[in-house]
Amino acid sequence: MESLRFKAINDLTTSTNGQGFEGAGRITAIFGENVFTLKTARAFLSDEAYKSLNASVKSGKKIDRTVANQISAGLRQWAESKGVTHFTHWFQPLTGTTAEKHDSFFTIKSDGTPIEQFDGDALIQQEPDASSFPSGGIRATFEARGYTAWDPSSPIFIMDIGTGKTLCIPTIFVSYTGETLDYKAPLLKSLEGLNKAAVEVCSYFDKNVTKVYATLGWEQEYFVVDEALVNSRPDLVMTGRTVFGHAPAKGQQLEDHYFGSIPERVYAFMRDYEQEAYKLGIPLRTRHNEVAPSQFEAAPIFEEVSVAVDHNLLCMDIMDRVARRHKLRALLHEKPFAGINGNGKHNNWSMATDTGVNLLAPGKTPKTNLMFLTFFVNTIKAVYDYSDILRASIASAGNDHRLGANEAPPAIISVFIGQYLTKVLEDIKQRVGAKFDEQDEAILKLDLHRSIPELMLDNTDRNRTSPFAFTGNKFEFRAVGSAANCANAMTALNTIIAETLKKFKKEVDALVDKGEKKEIAIMHVIREYIVSSEKVLFEGDGYSDEWQKEAEKRGLPNVKTTPLALDALVTDKAKKLFEENNVLNHVELEARHEIELEKYIKKVQIEARIMGELCTSHILPSAVKYQNKLIENIKGLKEIGVKESGYASQKKIVEKISEHISQISEMVSKMIEARKICNAMDDTRTKAIAYCSQVKEPFFDGIRYHVDKLELLVDDSEWLLPKYREILFLR
Ligand code: ADP
Ligand code: MG
Repeated sequence: MESLRFKAINDLTTSTNGQGFEGAGRITAIFGENVFTLKTARAFLSDEAYKSLNASVKSGKKIDRTVANQISAGLRQWAESKGVTHFTHWFQPLTGTTAEKHDSFFTIKSDGTPIEQFDGDALIQQEPDASSFPSGGIRATFEARGYTAWDPSSPIFIMDIGTGKTLCIPTIFVSYTGETLDYKAPLLKSLEGLNKAAVEVCSYFDKNVTKVYATLGWEQEYFVVDEALVNSRPDLVMTGRTVFGHAPAKGQQLEDHYFGSIPERVYAFMRDYEQEAYKLGIPLRTRHNEVAPSQFEAAPIFEEVSVAVDHNLLCMDIMDRVARRHKLRALLHEKPFAGINGNGKHNNWSMATDTGVNLLAPGKTPKTNLMFLTFFVNTIKAVYDYSDILRASIASAGNDHRLGANEAPPAIISVFIGQYLTKVLEDIKQRVGAKFDEQDEAILKLDLHRSIPELMLDNTDRNRTSPFAFTGNKFEFRAVGSAANCANAMTALNTIIAETLKKFKKEVDALVDKGEKKEIAIMHVIREYIVSSEKVLFEGDGYSDEWQKEAEKRGLPNVKTTPLALDALVTDKAKKLFEENNVLNHVELEARHEIELEKYIKKVQIEARIMGELCTSHILPSAVKYQNKLIENIKGLKEIGVKESGYASQKKIVEKISEHISQISEMVSKMIEARKICNAMDDTRTKAIAYCSQVKEPFFDGIRYHVDKLELLVDDSEWLLPKYREILFLR
């Protein structure tokens, strides 16, 4: 029988390129057509309902039950006008993906009459079966039920995939006793905390600022590969990454993919999913090839963080579904292939005021520059003080393959600011005395407004190896995993900035109370923050060994694995931070810690299982089959009287194959034993650490080494798993 691998390759060569997608016209004609925007609401709601919705979108005000009935009626009318039959509460459980439970508008009245109905209660609150979502023990301890509650700050939308259309209501997910069970609720709380703290600090510079919101522009990296090839790789199907596979003769060294045009078949897929995204109001702007073969990137125009997070999740979902339509697969895992670049998700982050100012954009006057410097230096200080919390926020089994491998930001959190701002900070350090003296008036005359705008012109001053880089008017958190929900990283970032800004305000106010001039007090606290956090600044090559050593000397943490990185979530420092900023209480933090550890364990466990399975059922049988062929050959040669030198090469290959086979068999059995020991462990943290140090580290690379050697030795026609050159270069 033909192997799946060859069938896949065959089907591929007979498939037509880029079929199936007719490009539509202008984007503006469809943009947001599946979103219940305020403009749409105006047309479908009564004045009273519209006003209420508007107020709760803008200020988070609770919606009254009676008004909710009016809103839900208008919503149903709009949805039905677009052919929608079902609705769902859409939420972001801690599994990392999104969840939905569909109900139809259809119901039967007590007298038996069938009707379509959608009342306010169904809009505001639902009770999904929470028992199948991770809760880290919260529900066991408190109450078995959880519910989803409408979050009016995110727009309601229609998911239109295939033939069905569903009205999706963005919600938060909480336990019956009020603990949050999702990524969204803490994010919203962190945004509120940041808003309050930043508005207070803004009042030094501009009393008109009444709201500060964080902004996020994500850049999503992903691979696109053929569906049939993926289906013949059980590891890709089960784990999203290849656990084996020898590097192809040609990898990414020529970098020809980066500059090349997008392959036709992928291009059709891209235009198709972009179309879906535009209808949902996702402002996609950029699409291009990435460095690795078959790797691509999508990025929208930045938006308010909570909306941007929703849009990223929706986009990931759409990519996955639309790719299937094109008989392709979008691989969003952080490291689908060894030896070539993995996927990241840069989170471009800044803060903006309701007066239209980007707080991380250098200003043109001394006053606006002092405001910029304040937020800029507070961000650096926050990252320094809480780098462990940022590190924990991006920790996952998948991301462990990137952080620390020499292609992505290292596990050491450092900040890159570029040469101009380095000089500016150095100037402040030198010219602003540590103590107040007669020079103080002079410091206000620092020519910051002259030197900073140059930075805007110098876009070449980029450092691609830094996990947290200032890029002109925003920070780019580059260490976020491609498969992650950005909300986790954004919640951590917002919270540590809020905390730092609060401290800053207190310290400046204390100096002002002592009679210092406001600007001078600000300058002095800024100087203090520069001095106390400068260790986190690093301009060099983050991938280098020297940096690992240098960082150690500076005392910067370098936690390479997820189970240990997660410890930072449950320290007294973390509990105080998240509790005082009203983002997560200690029960919620402990639950999250537990859930992330469990996720890690499961991921590594599944990978270990699939490795064992593939070895026994795919790799070893192929190797033995080929070995037997060689043995037959040697026997035959002997029989006809060929001298030993005549079959020495064959014999050598037979021996090599034997060696790899026995190594693989031995390691697989030992790995299974190690897993059994881990599985018997009760404490989740101990178990996660053991899965890392007793299962993953001693066996994964070792087994892979021998399998990949066999891939080169064994007859190509006997090899069952599609090879890297096929997955990455055929389409
Ligand atoms: P790159 O060179 O890294 O691709 P771009 O200038 O194209 O950088 O921007 C990348 C992302 O940063 C885009 O999503 C863009 O919208 C976003 N971005 C730009 N300004 C801001 C901002 N003030 N806040 C958040 N994101 C921003
Ligand atoms: Mg970028």
